[in-house]
Amino acid sequence: MAKRVIYADHAATTPLSSAAQTAMQPFLATDFYNPSTKYSAAQTARCAIETARKQIADCIGALREEIYFTSGGTESDNWAIKGTAFRYPNQKKQIITSQIEHHAVLNSCSFLQRMGYQVSYLPVDTAGIVSEETFKKALSSDTILVSIMLANNEIGTIEPIKQLASIAHQNDIPFHTDAVQAVGHISIDVRELGVDLLSASAHKFGGPKGMGFLYVKKGQNLESLLSGGGQEHALRAGTENVAGIVGMAAALVEKSSALSTHTQHLSTIRNSFIAALEQSSLDYRINGANICLPGTISISIRDTSGELLLHRLDLQGIQIATGSACDSKETQLSHVIQALHIPVEYANGTIRVSFGTESSEEDAIAIVHALEKICQRK
Ligand code: PLP
Repeated sequence: MAKRVIYADHAATTPLSSAAQTAMQPFLATDFYNPSTKYSAAQTARCAIETARKQIADCIGALREEIYFTSGGTESDNWAIKGTAFRYPNQKKQIITSQIEHHAVLNSCSFLQRMGYQVSYLPVDTAGIVSEETFKKALSSDTILVSIMLANNEIGTIEPIKQLASIAHQNDIPFHTDAVQAVGHISIDVRELGVDLLSASAHKFGGPKGMGFLYVKKGQNLESLLSGGGQEHALRAGTENVAGIVGMAAALVEKSSALSTHTQHLSTIRNSFIAALEQSSLDYRINGANICLPGTISISIRDTSGELLLHRLDLQGIQIATGSACDSKETQLSHVIQALHIPVEYANGTIRVSFGTESSEEDAIAIVHALEKICQRK
């Protein structure tokens, strides 16, 4: 009999939803046309792109023309940060970000630092929250952009973006948020949040990999990073990934229309996971803030190694992460766990469990039981 696999790594990626698959199918086959061509047969692809743009805009409270298609969260983050910075060449300008951002943000910032820009990496408290006071102190007359993530990919903490963006705007500074882990999982209204730039990635909410979007508030100017044709208002050149675009829109519409059911489902699983942990013999701590993504839980187990737990669970068909997937080749503590100042005897034993649509309470309980057995056997 085939071994039952428990997939609990939805923060790394999610399976392609059936809505996305169905929507993509025609554009992988019969409607293969390049949307930029002039003949009538390409009309279907052109229309599909614009319909998808409107659907995505509606899901986050944006205007259709504020949505730009990209190749994913990494490109969106790079574009928001470098595209803003490149408007101020050869000037000693400052960017403010946090210590717990994804590497797509951190490495975009370090790239700019090498070019002469100043970057302030704000510390977080033990729950991973950027405080308003710390943020206010970092602001200067040279600040040209703030980039703070909406929800952290390792610990699930949701940052107080509305408050931080409002402070940035009082100082006439644009605000970018990496919402890759949040879009499709929590309710998002860009006007309500008050952000100027927002990054998203399709494969985190049931869409295809290599597809994402950047919300650019009307009036917010960005330099283009890709030179070429006139696609995306001549700001992001390259023939559109039509299937990817319609797949992303279908997945987001599906997730957004069932958001409260989705949240309820994940909260129930989360509660079962925590209840099972409380009843277990494990010596653990839960990382992150109370206001967090419902499906993502980071725990640190005393006197063990996250790497060892991951491999032992894998042998049992349970798939989890130690930190973010992009860090999986690194063996040292992730920068996020380091920034939380977790006592070292716990920090080394950190794992991330992230549930999704097809997860169940049984999965959550089975993971805790497996962890308990592994730790007893060590
Ligand atoms: N930002 C965050 C918070 C992420 O979690 C990820 C992916 O894990 C990215 C950016 C990069 O997104 P993508 O995989 O679409 O390039």
